[in-house]
Amino acid sequence: MEILYAILILLGIGALLGLGLAIAAKVLHVKEDERIEEVAKKLPNYNCGSCGYAGCKSLAEAIVTGKEENLRKCKPGKEDANFKPIIEYLEQHPNSDGTKVKVHL
Ligand code: SF4
Repeated sequence: MEILYAILILLGIGALLGLGLAIAAKVLHVKEDERIEEVAKKLPNYNCGSCGYAGCKSLAEAIVTGKEENLRKCKPGKEDANFKPIIEYLEQHPNSDGTKVKVHL
């Protein structure tokens, strides 16, 4: 009988902790700018770091947030395959205040 109580107590603790994590995930969720993911998809995705960022997604985030304007920081990137699609995408998806994301080759 005591083992049954121990199991029930552990199950209860597990359920409470799981519920706490689920609530924290909902409350603390930070909505990411979907343009970051789209720009990251258009980069070569080698994650080589030769751009000086931790990976393609980090460069994409820097581009979208305006911290990086030079697309040629991505050394393996190709103008037609990567950079032009990014420029076109960002022209079509401006910032929430209507300003364009500044990028150049
Ligand atoms: S240089 Fe280009 S391919 Fe390499 S991590 Fe940076 S964005 Fe990705």
